[in-house]
Amino acid sequence: MIEICALASGSNGNCYYIGNETEAVLVDAGLSAKQILLRMKDAGLNASKIKGIFISHEHTDHVSGVRVLVKRLGIIAWFSQGTFDALRETERPETYGIFKPGKAFHAGSFTIHPFLKNHDAAEPCSFRIEHDDWHVGIFTDIGEACNTVRHHLRKCHALFLETNYDEKMLWEGTYPYLLKRRVTSAHGHLSNDQAFELIRDHAGPELVHVFLSHLSGENNRPELAEARFMSLSDRFNVSLTSRNTFSGLCRLR
Ligand SMILES: [Zn+2]
Ligand SMILES: [Zn+2]
Repeated sequence: MIEICALASGSNGNCYYIGNETEAVLVDAGLSAKQILLRMKDAGLNASKIKGIFISHEHTDHVSGVRVLVKRLGIIAWFSQGTFDALRETERPETYGIFKPGKAFHAGSFTIHPFLKNHDAAEPCSFRIEHDDWHVGIFTDIGEACNTVRHHLRKCHALFLETNYDEKMLWEGTYPYLLKRRVTSAHGHLSNDQAFELIRDHAGPELVHVFLSHLSGENNRPELAEARFMSLSDRFNVSLTSRNTFSGLCRLR
């Protein structure tokens, strides 16, 4: 059995929970430790199960709570070397480990597959997490999906998938032109359309659940992201994540 939940997802903070009956891991800690622990409690999730945190990249919406959370729970946070080096001194946790992108490793009974992706950070990684023959992907902050992303996507049963922006909203919105260019570039974020096409063309037949994730507060609306995926709803379940609260729990057994 594996169960997953987005404790927070969006441009202002990300934290994803993947657990089984006795153990759990987190991906990213972009809220305060206090908020993360509060949301876990409210979602009925037990923080003492957490064996480690895996950090995808150094942007604030993925790391702001990691230092305190590591201390509070007495666990280790794992980074790629490039991500760790790019952290400010004040963001670095006391106990940490370094993983190598492309090399699988273990945390409790979970196997973590970290891999490089296109994003404007030092050494950005996404993860496929494996347990009990279930595979969960955490695919956010991806400018353009490369072959590695597609390879891992094909194996996934469930997925946190970035649907960052609606193209029309972004281009008609208030962001400065250079920021619009950055978001839409190959090292920015996936739009609703790009995420849809990625899944339509490259998801494996075993995919059962997709959480639409990392929505921009300015340039997207949940109903637009959801509507884009309607035509695939006979292939798998689609649900939303939120910046303000934890998502529903998806349990695979
Ligand atoms: Zn982000
Ligand atoms: Zn980022």
